[in-house]
Amino acid sequence: MKKLLAALCCAIAFCAPANAQEANVSKYKIGDYEFISLNNNTGAVSESLIINKDALEGYKTEGWNSNSLNYFVLKAGGDIILFDAGLPLTHGGKIAQRLQEAGLKPGDINIIAITHMHGDHIGGLLDAQGQPLFTNAKVFIAKEEAAHWQNNQDANAVLEAYKNQITLFKKNAKITGAVKSAPLFGHTPGHSGFIIKSNGQQVYVLGDVTHLTAQFANPEISVSYDVDPKAALKTRKNILAKVARQKNTHIAGMHIYKPGLGKLAKAEKGYTFTPAN
Ligand SMILES: [Zn+2]
Repeated sequence: MKKLLAALCCAIAFCAPANAQEANVSKYKIGDYEFISLNNNTGAVSESLIINKDALEGYKTEGWNSNSLNYFVLKAGGDIILFDAGLPLTHGGKIAQRLQEAGLKPGDINIIAITHMHGDHIGGLLDAQGQPLFTNAKVFIAKEEAAHWQNNQDANAVLEAYKNQITLFKKNAKITGAVKSAPLFGHTPGHSGFIIKSNGQQVYVLGDVTHLTAQFANPEISVSYDVDPKAALKTRKNILAKVARQKNTHIAGMHIYKPGLGKLAKAEKGYTFTPAN
């Protein structure tokens, strides 16, 4: 896990939450479903990781570089779906603890939808012994994503441990009746979002389309974690424009400051993001 951890440890600075009063588990109603945000930790992105520092000009307002590590659970009909699993339990990952705080056990999860295979998203799939933590879950990963990481030791440990539970999906796949995938390639070659729809409400789970708050005000701001920064930028601009046009739509991001769920609106320049209560 070392190589992936090196990349992700820059992404998440382990500093104290800006507001310790904020909950680490927040529950919402989306149509007929329950959507639960679980926060692993909060932090700030170092300016040294911004690859186009000129884009920051005028955008370094308070909290500009705040971020989080989140994962989400959707209760939809009989399914309990987990979106990403955070860091390895041996490296600061809190998935088991947060699930417990939400009244859930790893064995309750029957579907896991993975946005991409960076260590801060798949590390929590394994227990301390490197075995599957989620023994009852089918795990969905984009075909392109698994292909890209198959020679990476850490990603391969997950693919190997879950080999009897994994489904590799193609673009715009139906994951369950409640969830569809959407290709958001760029951050990684198979980076995928997920669209949840229920009773006139929608959530777009956007994975790592953004890493810091200022990217809403100026989507041009780019970070060094993107495997293909140009493609990641194009994807970010397209998807933010699309969701900002849609009504009754929330976005959820793994690195949006907790709870990581909120609404996006077009502003004069860029967008404003309003967190869910
Ligand atoms: Zn990430």
